[in-house]
Amino acid sequence: MIPVTSVKTLPEAYALLQARPPGLRVLAGGTDLMVAINARVGLDRIGHVLDIWNVRELRGIALQDNFLRIGALTTYTEIIHSTLVNTQLPALAAVSREVGAWAIQNRGTLGGNVCNASPAGDTLPLLLAADARFLLGGPRGERTVVAEEFFLAYRKTALGADELLLRVDFPLPDAARLAYRKVGTRRAQSISKTLIAVRATPGLREVRIAAGCVAPIPLRCRRAEQAAMSGGDVRAALQLDISPINDIRSTIEYRRLVSANVLLQLLKNMGTPYSLPGRP
Ligand SMILES: Cc1cc2nc3c(=O)[nH]c(=O)nc-3n(C[C@H](O)[C@H](O)[C@H](O)COP(=O)(O)OP(=O)(O)OC[C@H]3O[C@@H](n4cnc5c(N)ncnc54)[C@H](O)[C@@H]3O)c2cc1C
Repeated sequence: MIPVTSVKTLPEAYALLQARPPGLRVLAGGTDLMVAINARVGLDRIGHVLDIWNVRELRGIALQDNFLRIGALTTYTEIIHSTLVNTQLPALAAVSREVGAWAIQNRGTLGGNVCNASPAGDTLPLLLAADARFLLGGPRGERTVVAEEFFLAYRKTALGADELLLRVDFPLPDAARLAYRKVGTRRAQSISKTLIAVRATPGLREVRIAAGCVAPIPLRCRRAEQAAMSGGDVRAALQLDISPINDIRSTIEYRRLVSANVLLQLLKNMGTPYSLPGRP
């Protein structure tokens, strides 16, 4: 039996994080962690579970100082039903509706998606394109890490062993311009084959592009951004940014072709000069 400590406050959580029992793992909604435990993946490395599900300070959505602040434990259902998110950051509400089905949306959290750091995590390209900031905290204090500096390598993040993700902050009004498209096998209940998120100012003076499922980490696509801002070949530039693999969900060729098509379509929908060309 793996010992579980359930806490209700951050100081209680920090006390256990400071004690660092071997193999300590944080449990939020459990929709990723319990799947891994059931599949007996990495079980030998889990020595103690810190259950933070009941820490109320980590829930909630607020508008403050031109940031939309979303607590790490906020669920997809809460995001979907939030008036603030639907008015200030509608793309986040929309992508949350595309995560799993109701059971997963009721239990899965934004913070869990971030800390699980799967290249297929659906919210992650949106967070990158929005220039979101992550507030991390632990017994040593708090610090802020921008989304682009958080995802370091495959499933490896900047989160310290004694830290929790406390909150995700979205700068407004810029984040309101986010658009995205998830491509999966079906429109509902499928893991993405590719997901592209774009944020652009009118006239493409400032463009942010990010992609999921096409690299070991959720990826900011800087070459494609430069091409879009300078009127260049966005399709060719994106191919240099991404490095997709063949896996059970898709192929390299499909991911390359569809990612570029989706990106061009998103830019076109934003009223830019880019139109959707035929197959390369
Ligand atoms: C059937 C099914 C369908 C799914 N569909 C989708 C989908 O369509 N799109 C998608 O993106 N994902 C999907 N998922 C994955 C999952 O639901 C999401 O990634 C979810 O956001 C995880 O949140 P959680 O709170 O359940 O995380 P948990 O499982 O509790 O935790 C995930 C990881 O993050 C760490 N962690 C969690 N919160 C914190 C925190 N605050 N601080 C530090 N570490 C933390 C945990 O230690 C663990 O390593 C699906 C999962 C299932 C089972």
